[in-house]
Amino acid sequence: MKTAKDVNQSPSIVDQDRENVWHHISQYNNEKRPMVVTEGKGAWITDHEGGKYLDGMSGLWCVNVGYGRKELAKAAYEQIQKLAYTSMTQSHMPGIQLAEKVNELLGDDYMIFYSNSGSDANEVAFKIARQYHQQNGEQARHKFISRYRAYHGGSMGALSATGQALRKYKYEPLNSGFLHVSPPDNYRRPDGMSVKAYNLQRAQELEDKIIWEQKETVAAVIMEPLITGGGILIPDRVYVEKVQEICKKHGVLLIIDEVICGFGRTGKMFGHQHFNIKPDMVTMAKGLTSAYLPLSVTAVRKDIYKVFESNGENNHFRHVNTFGGNPAACAVALKNIEILEKENLVERSALLGERLQNELAELKNHPFVGDVRGLGFLLGIEMVEDKKTKQPALPKRVNKIISDCKAKGLIIGKNGDTVEGYNNILALCPPLSCTDEDVAYIVSVMKEVFKENTP
Ligand code: PLP
Repeated sequence: MKTAKDVNQSPSIVDQDRENVWHHISQYNNEKRPMVVTEGKGAWITDHEGGKYLDGMSGLWCVNVGYGRKELAKAAYEQIQKLAYTSMTQSHMPGIQLAEKVNELLGDDYMIFYSNSGSDANEVAFKIARQYHQQNGEQARHKFISRYRAYHGGSMGALSATGQALRKYKYEPLNSGFLHVSPPDNYRRPDGMSVKAYNLQRAQELEDKIIWEQKETVAAVIMEPLITGGGILIPDRVYVEKVQEICKKHGVLLIIDEVICGFGRTGKMFGHQHFNIKPDMVTMAKGLTSAYLPLSVTAVRKDIYKVFESNGENNHFRHVNTFGGNPAACAVALKNIEILEKENLVERSALLGERLQNELAELKNHPFVGDVRGLGFLLGIEMVEDKKTKQPALPKRVNKIISDCKAKGLIIGKNGDTVEGYNNILALCPPLSCTDEDVAYIVSVMKEVFKENTP
């Protein structure tokens, strides 16, 4: 077996990777070496050459409690020793306890359906929505409406709901019955229009879509509390509350995708808790276990669940997956939530997010920065070529900032491969466990890099 030292000295680790591993998203490029990450502690990761980086993206927006949590490893170890597996056609203690805990956090009574990933959780929500309407006497309700620029997953249904053309290009045709409307993008709203009026106009677009599609054919709307991976597009509260009102008015279910926003990211336990709404279903993944193990949840309002209780033939939910609700994953999720609560990481997310936003607000004076916005510990910096026309920044300019940050030991992200010409928004989504020094480090690197990239 190789020791860490052997690995460090091995010149071939990257070649080995190149030979065998097909990477997610990243383009094949012999010049661009993949980063082989070997360790993580707090907000910091170490690569196989000993390079240290503050992970300003928490992996893929998911390691909310930070790296190297021994309690989480222990929770998994102990559960695997005790009971490694039972399928969710039966039950087990961590699954029962976690369902109760998630309900407590949601502040209501939902039924908790376990799966493995955010995509799975959304697929489950779509199937439940269609079957619910069928069994509720509204057989025609089968369509889903989501927003352009939002991401809801990579499987065929979740990708159909995704509103990012670049993610779908060459995989189409996707599922029929998935429709899209424009999201509020407050930075790009028409000149002279108030944020409120603009957000209400966007909500009206959704209502028009429902009506023009024949409301009796629409099953559900799916949306994130704010669009995350699509460019940190934060709606005004009137938008979200109006959307719920419209859904209710037309008998359409509201599915809230909390895959990124959940578990403290936005400064509340769930992103939708910033608004006065009560979703029909809530999907969650990533921060549920801080990505220490794969697990996702589709939380479904109990009155919807009731329609599946009737004894008619095939009226039960005929969906199963092998790994969803794995006992060790549930045990890790419980411990992860305990850490979030014990260390007040949700409140800290709000506090650190505000600090980060205030500190980085001065970047708005930079000639290529059009907007700096965020909610909780989730920040977007929209880069433009021209502040007046708001023409999105060229990819080379955006990529230069990202690579310069990396050279100084800070990983940041962007809304890559989303909508042609609009992949111009830098993203920061650091672990909620960041120390004050970590935040100061992010701020100083960002300021330095933008200064060095001033024409
Ligand atoms: N929903 C949102 C908002 C996401 O950001 C993602 C993934 O990034 C997904 C769903 C899909 O989650 P997964 O990658 O776990 O399938």
